Amino acid sequence: MQEYARLADANDPLRHWRDQFYHPKGSPGTKSIYFCGNSLGLQPRSVQKYVMEELMAWRELAVKGHFDADRAWYNYHQYLQPQTGRLVGAKPEETVVMNSLTLNLHLLMASFYRPTPQRYKILIEAGAFSSDRYAVMTQAAWHGLDPKEAVIELSPSEGNYTLTTDEITAAIDQHADSLALVLFSGVQYYTGQYFDLAAITAAAHQVGAIAGFDLAHAAGNVVLQLHDWNVDFAAWCSYKYLNSGPGGSSGVFVHERHGDRPEQTPRLAGWWSVDAKHRFQMPQDMVAQRGAAGWQVSNAQVLPMAAHLASLAIFDEVGMIALRQKSEQLTAFAELVINQANEIWRQTTQNYYPSDPKQRGCQLSILMLNGRGREVFEFLQRNGVELDWRHPNVIRIAPVPLYNTFAEVFWFGELLIKALR
Ligand SMILES: *Cc1c(COP(=O)(O)O)cnc(C)c1O
Repeated sequence: MQEYARLADANDPLRHWRDQFYHPKGSPGTKSIYFCGNSLGLQPRSVQKYVMEELMAWRELAVKGHFDADRAWYNYHQYLQPQTGRLVGAKPEETVVMNSLTLNLHLLMASFYRPTPQRYKILIEAGAFSSDRYAVMTQAAWHGLDPKEAVIELSPSEGNYTLTTDEITAAIDQHADSLALVLFSGVQYYTGQYFDLAAITAAAHQVGAIAGFDLAHAAGNVVLQLHDWNVDFAAWCSYKYLNSGPGGSSGVFVHERHGDRPEQTPRLAGWWSVDAKHRFQMPQDMVAQRGAAGWQVSNAQVLPMAAHLASLAIFDEVGMIALRQKSEQLTAFAELVINQANEIWRQTTQNYYPSDPKQRGCQLSILMLNGRGREVFEFLQRNGVELDWRHPNVIRIAPVPLYNTFAEVFWFGELLIKALR
């Protein structure tokens, strides 16, 4: 195993990217292994330069920076659209970077969740991230509906942790006439399951519902084709796999069939929803901007977006196909070392994640069966593994292909064997 890890690292075409990130120092005497890129990605070394450029423009140009900065702030969102489009498989105009994730979900639902007495239900996966759950529940309540009736939370069948695509499409068919919106994760934050977005979208459209996705754990993790899959809308944050810093800006996708028809797609607007040409004429009747950019409300948050720009340049250069290729190998190796530890210690852990590599990203969630989960977690942490604990007994690790190595995964396996003892 150790030899395999050594060779895999030596042959890894992406290995030099590791040095383009700052790695947190662990406690003295321990190797530090950062497996929390699913929660907060590491800082790219290039971020400081991008942010400094805007700080300098502010310092030296002040208000003139809106038009005279090298990247004029007035059009700042445009600098991120091409890379964002390539990241999620969309046309540049179908994307925009703005605000934060949950806020964007609300703005998008203001347009795409417009319940009628007949069609008012929202389908989400059971165990969805709390913020998403609160968002859909309060959307329903805000429309005067009973959230318990309007929001359907789909659970896996008895004894399973993950949903099958058939179960999801069957639920869509079951609620066909009353279903307004399917709002699923792309990659589920708890189980790591990567849903079949194309199949879910097709099934939703078949019954006349809208398909929206939260891609917080999918963007920068898996290869997405949002345009071709006909997804109606999506949003994601940039601070997890996209390494753009705490509270970083959120990305948004709106399919052009909605974005090109501002008249038919009502939205909550502000001055930045207006076409840049007309913005300072401050017309009485708003001329909505075309494309996803029309969902902007306020002017751009330049500093966090500058950090995001630095990170997007990395993703552009690496490419999601190459990244995913390494990711599948690295995650498969992580699965192998976990299974080995499990065999040695007689089934003390159970896979909480899909075994099919196509149905997962780089995160593996392990259920600790012996009630000693917390102890194991703390042992690993003491020994330098930065990982994530989820109530009641689940450990999540995310070997991130941009900056984690096969050697780290091997070392994690050694520590897990010790921890389970
Ligand atoms: C991380 C995450 C969020 C975080 O939302 P913010 O609005 O950025 O605080 C929301 N939903 C999901 C599914 C997430 O994974």
